[in-house]
Amino acid sequence: ETSDAGWNYDNSYCRLPQIFYTHQNPEPVRSPHLVVFNDELAKTLGLNEQVLNSDQGANLLAGNEIPEGAYPLAQAYAGHQFGYFNMLGDGRAVLIGEQVTPTGERYDIQLKGSGRTPYSRQGDGCASLGPMLREYIISEAMHGLGIPTTRSLAVVKTGELIIRETYLPGAILTRVAASHLRVGTFQYAAHRGTKEDLKALADYALQRHFPDSADAESPYLRLLQEVIQRQALLISKWQLVGFIHGVMNTDNMTISGETIDYGPCAFLDDYDPATVFSSIDREGRYAYGNQPSIAGWNLARLAEALLPLLHEDTEQAVSLAQDVLAEFPKLYRHHWLAGMRAKLGMYTEEPEDESLIEDLLTMMYKQDADYTNTFRSLTLQQPEDVAMYGSDEFNSWFEQWQTRLGRQPEEKAEAYELMRRSNPAVIPRNHRVEAALEAAVNQADYSVMEQLLDVLKNPYAYTAEQAEFAALPPKSAVPYRTYC
Ligand code: AMP
Ligand code: MG
Ligand code: MG
Repeated sequence: ETSDAGWNYDNSYCRLPQIFYTHQNPEPVRSPHLVVFNDELAKTLGLNEQVLNSDQGANLLAGNEIPEGAYPLAQAYAGHQFGYFNMLGDGRAVLIGEQVTPTGERYDIQLKGSGRTPYSRQGDGCASLGPMLREYIISEAMHGLGIPTTRSLAVVKTGELIIRETYLPGAILTRVAASHLRVGTFQYAAHRGTKEDLKALADYALQRHFPDSADAESPYLRLLQEVIQRQALLISKWQLVGFIHGVMNTDNMTISGETIDYGPCAFLDDYDPATVFSSIDREGRYAYGNQPSIAGWNLARLAEALLPLLHEDTEQAVSLAQDVLAEFPKLYRHHWLAGMRAKLGMYTEEPEDESLIEDLLTMMYKQDADYTNTFRSLTLQQPEDVAMYGSDEFNSWFEQWQTRLGRQPEEKAEAYELMRRSNPAVIPRNHRVEAALEAAVNQADYSVMEQLLDVLKNPYAYTAEQAEFAALPPKSAVPYRTYC
């Protein structure tokens, strides 16, 4: 009996106008086999982890069996991909339904890699094991870091081979999200739909994510403001931990403010704003240092799509949108500064803090200092481990910083406590993630990944065990590259 699993589906998305989706069942797969399962997340969703973490569960999580109450569909959307507009949609994913949890929260349950849909274009609708495990690891690491993100409930091997450059094992990821509404969903509505369709989507987004704003005097301007606020906070958190998304296309930016679509993402090692890991980002459009301005650009595309709802008169609508968009860089900078102060143990605000922070970053850049470990060493009161240690420049900076901490009412010990809460001792280091994937995909050994996931659950714990995971890889002559 499928209801044993604890599904409690209510599908609000399929009540939107028909243009927004196509009813679509996942393609059944040959021999589903569960390889990773997130017990903790299952519990918070009100699911029965014993039922799901089993052969029957594998069948459900592969989409071979559709639970009662589900209404599988592929969503339509559009998006600017590397600056170019395209009509898109779920080409290799299906929304099974919205799980309403025991505490009344609503989450999309999506199967990614579940076969072709009307939006697949030339694609095969499939995903391979390595990238699905990679999304599982990084999304769960982001959650551990306290960054809004979609979650990963499970990965199932399909027992089928898919064709890329070589044959690869197929897999399906169960993705859990506050919703899959994207900036690109609004672009799709503006491009393809009527004003009524656009309004239906905007009302839906308000109800689902910002119910308090639904009755505002100008609800659609409020919607834009809310998304801008959430994205400003989100991008500041990315920058503060050194997360590089890699494909910030407008279809990969959510309305909920969650990070979505872990393709070629990776974490910064040496501090350098120009860092790019993605093999397809040849021009560095989505480089680490560009992420805030790209987010602003994407939000301008959202504003454009919403224009017809902002005012009858287009010029007035544009002027309203511009005023709201102008807030984004200020909000971002505000959150980033607050986060940087916390990373350096500062409780109070002084005008000189900005230059103190920038000076540290400039030294890190010049000395190829590891971003995460520099802050970790300062947190552990081990400045001798910092790459710039010993230089006059660093000595003078360190003294200035200590004096600055001395001027606030909080004790030094409290400052270091704040630093522990604000600087992760571990991040998903590229070489660690690769090692976990290698063992899983080539050796069917999931223990390396399980151990990594375990460490990444509490990145601010500063346990002895974590020290090993903070170690840097040997310097490589070949830059690290990620692929979609
Ligand atoms: P992404 O780069 O993962 O954000 O995907 C961009 C678009 O391409 C989305 O509409 C995906 O659904 C689609 N897509 C990516 N890979 C495939 C695939 N193997 N088959 C069909 N569609 C795909
Ligand atoms: Mg995408
Ligand atoms: Mg460098």
